[in-house]
Amino acid sequence: MFTENILRSALRKEGGINRRWFMAYVGCLSSIPLLGRQTRVLAEGRFRSYPFTLGVASGDPTSTGVVLWTRLAPQPLEPGGGMPPESYAVSWEVANDEHFKHVVASGTVAATPQLGHSVHVEVDGLQPDRWYFYRFHCGQEVSPVGRTRTFPMADAMPPRVRIAVTSCQNFEQGLFTGYEQMVADQPDIVFHLGDYIYEYEAGKNGKVRTHHGKEIESLDDYRARHAQYRSDPLLQAMHAACPWIVTWDDHEFDNNYAGAISEQEGIDPVAFLARRANAYQAYYEAMPLRATSLPRGAELRLYRSVPYGKLANFHVLDTRQYRSDQPNGDKRSPLNDAALDSRQSLLGTDQRNWLCHQLITSSATWNVLAQQVMMGMVDRAGNPEAPEYSMDQWPGYAAERMQLMRFLQSRRISNPVVLTGDIHSNWVNELRVDDRQPDLPVVATEFVATSLSSGGNGTERPRGLDALLAANPCVRYHNAERGYIRCDITPTRWQADYMTTDDVLRPGGKTFLRRSFVVESGNPQVQTS
Ligand code: FE
Ligand code: CA
Repeated sequence: MFTENILRSALRKEGGINRRWFMAYVGCLSSIPLLGRQTRVLAEGRFRSYPFTLGVASGDPTSTGVVLWTRLAPQPLEPGGGMPPESYAVSWEVANDEHFKHVVASGTVAATPQLGHSVHVEVDGLQPDRWYFYRFHCGQEVSPVGRTRTFPMADAMPPRVRIAVTSCQNFEQGLFTGYEQMVADQPDIVFHLGDYIYEYEAGKNGKVRTHHGKEIESLDDYRARHAQYRSDPLLQAMHAACPWIVTWDDHEFDNNYAGAISEQEGIDPVAFLARRANAYQAYYEAMPLRATSLPRGAELRLYRSVPYGKLANFHVLDTRQYRSDQPNGDKRSPLNDAALDSRQSLLGTDQRNWLCHQLITSSATWNVLAQQVMMGMVDRAGNPEAPEYSMDQWPGYAAERMQLMRFLQSRRISNPVVLTGDIHSNWVNELRVDDRQPDLPVVATEFVATSLSSGGNGTERPRGLDALLAANPCVRYHNAERGYIRCDITPTRWQADYMTTDDVLRPGGKTFLRRSFVVESGNPQVQTS
């Protein structure tokens, strides 16, 4: 019922009824306690228009808590979101029911201009494995209602979990139509694997709608871009429907960057890191992340494990911030000495050590790597005489990739599954220590989710498909349609449903199930269902 309601209201807004709230503020705030001297109580303040234009979100649940998010932005595209440079008291409440008759937790936090008037509440003390409703108040204004959930206790074996996997939502190239079906799918969790925004200037990829402003560089630029994306009613509806677990790829900062290195020659690394600090801070402000991800200058810790009882452990990776430069000038190349150089790393030493530790100490049935770039060693030329691999993806870091595969194999890590975004096409890949050798045992399955909107309408049979499949026996499925992946995970079975949206260029596109694949616990070989 709740998801039907938020969908209905999102579609109404998308249909052009732009609700504007011009409520002159006259009341006082007797119910909201002062938070300290710098927190402004709104006695003399007023909102020119509704401050919760960006909706609400939640993320990174534990068995007793979850992060609740909102951001005050009465004028989302203006610098500062249209807020004065002062702090505001925002109260929050969590209830068992969507009408807030049974409030089980509440409090007040400060929305500060330093963090773009974003709010990140880390609620704790909730019951495990159940759904809750939440909302925010500021002055007399009330946010939309969000629905979220806690995860099962660490030692519980839940019978199932449903996740949705999405990535690459270029605002100019397509509508976020897929989220309509995703809301209806009622997943327990959404994984966003990167390219949540694109940094490009207005009109660069313009097809269906236009970015606000020039290529984003300043903190206010990145904030406004996130706000523009989050103004999308369907994206807001999906955030309000369940918790999200997010990680980024390159476009949250700059195309194909590697650590502190730009894809362009001659960029001053100090200026580039200053820009990275802007991008990372705006990302933190826009996402339901814990304080462990508070940015420190140009650094932000995003890699983390999120366990779902004993059923699944989601290891969320960051393959952008710590990577070494792409070899071979980031051009598609054979797996030459540069690509196989053991000094090449996508993870960096700290994250790699952390990941190995998480994997050996995990007692989960499914060990999921939720990450950005394709791990399958796929010859993209589809030509055994002159194979070409992407140097921006794991093949450009082939030694580390093979080391990871050997680790999963030798340590007998339980049911590894890799989830990937980035390349605007769907793939199912068998992963081996070396994917060029089909006689080696399969170590894991990789499910690559296509873009939600990037690239506009795609195709079920991309050019050269037959040659690509013939040259790459590790690839079990590939198409270039738009959509997302819906996964139903039980203690014995992982089913991945490839959901396809038929039209992202006009409103009214439909999303349907194109193909399903299954991995059974104990057998890494993927099967068609
Ligand atoms: Fe992308
Ligand atoms: Ca990307």
